[in-house]
Amino acid sequence: MIYLDYNATTPLCAPAREAMLPYFDQDFGNASSIHAAGRAARAAIDNARDKLAAILRANPHELVFTGSGTESNNLAVLGLARSQRHRGRHLICSSVEHHAVLHAFKHLRRNEGFEVTLLPVDSTGLVDPEELARALRPDTTLVSIMAANNETGVIQPMRDIADACRSRGVLLHSDMVQAFAKLRGDVADVPVDAASFSAHKFYGPKGAGLLYLRAGISIESIQFGGAHENQRRPGTENVAAIAGMAAAAEWALLDSVIEQARQDTLRDRLWGGISRCFPSAQQNGATATRLANTLNVSFPGLDSETLLMALDLEGICASSGSACMVGSVVASHVLLAMGMTPATARAAVRFSLGKQTTTREIDAGVEAVGRVCQRLSRHAAARDAYAVA
Ligand code: PLP
Repeated sequence: MIYLDYNATTPLCAPAREAMLPYFDQDFGNASSIHAAGRAARAAIDNARDKLAAILRANPHELVFTGSGTESNNLAVLGLARSQRHRGRHLICSSVEHHAVLHAFKHLRRNEGFEVTLLPVDSTGLVDPEELARALRPDTTLVSIMAANNETGVIQPMRDIADACRSRGVLLHSDMVQAFAKLRGDVADVPVDAASFSAHKFYGPKGAGLLYLRAGISIESIQFGGAHENQRRPGTENVAAIAGMAAAAEWALLDSVIEQARQDTLRDRLWGGISRCFPSAQQNGATATRLANTLNVSFPGLDSETLLMALDLEGICASSGSACMVGSVVASHVLLAMGMTPATARAAVRFSLGKQTTTREIDAGVEAVGRVCQRLSRHAAARDAYAVA
């Protein structure tokens, strides 16, 4: 199997697995218990919080452990909008956000009387900070713009976006789920008020998320039941997953600069091969600054679902649109927002590389794409000829 779907998820790294094991076994205590078993669990959480805070250049109490990137996004959007509703009910997000953000905004608009402005992106997938500044109103309380897009890898100008929000006193949340360890993006570098992360995107366990929330900002909890995480996220902590997330974060950052350069070269090699075997292929989002590991390609005349199934039979794992919509034939909202036709958007495949990707895998991947495209193009031509006849 050649795995080219690292934006969907990554394999657990050895340090994360090792860090997790004790908490499945001898140190199984509940971190809220006052006895020795509970204290061992609490120490693990405190230790993970300190490590992650140091990495993000944040204060430990500014971190909220959650169960996923989705939950972090939901908590940020719903919790911040609701806690600020006395100040105003106008919210802004980009049209290319992950559904964990978009659907939370939609919920607020439909059910809680908020007004939401969806900021367009240009054909490269970028938000214009000046357009954002123009969209800000006296009653705007929250803006949410992702740091890097999961489908195209396009990186948003977060500093300019943050400046626009700061100068108007508007809170800024950023979905940094795809950015961690791929971009230099600690919260001291990019001055956001809240940021979401997810461990399984950086070689940590699934079901572990993190929300950074700048000190002094109040948030309404979206779950009820306990005082965990400083009243911000009730529920018994997943100690093993939290320990694994911190170990993975450290591991992912060890060689991230070298790794980004290596993946950039491999990504270009993959594109070079694909464009040779399918000359009408087009890279989506390639003219903007992109994550080094992400290649989104449209194969005009073919459809992504068939392509992905054929690639799967060849042992290649890739995806179309967001992995969270697997099986869906709906064109990607991200590509449509970039002005692509539904047909071109439905012909798009995302290849995403990671630390374990090798040159041999890329070359084998190119060959497989070539075989699959040739076969599917023949079928498409035969189908069209039959339709004309
Ligand atoms: N945000 C982005 C940009 C993502 O790519 C994903 C996952 O694909 C999520 C949020 C959701 O994260 P999780 O899978 O941890 O719920």
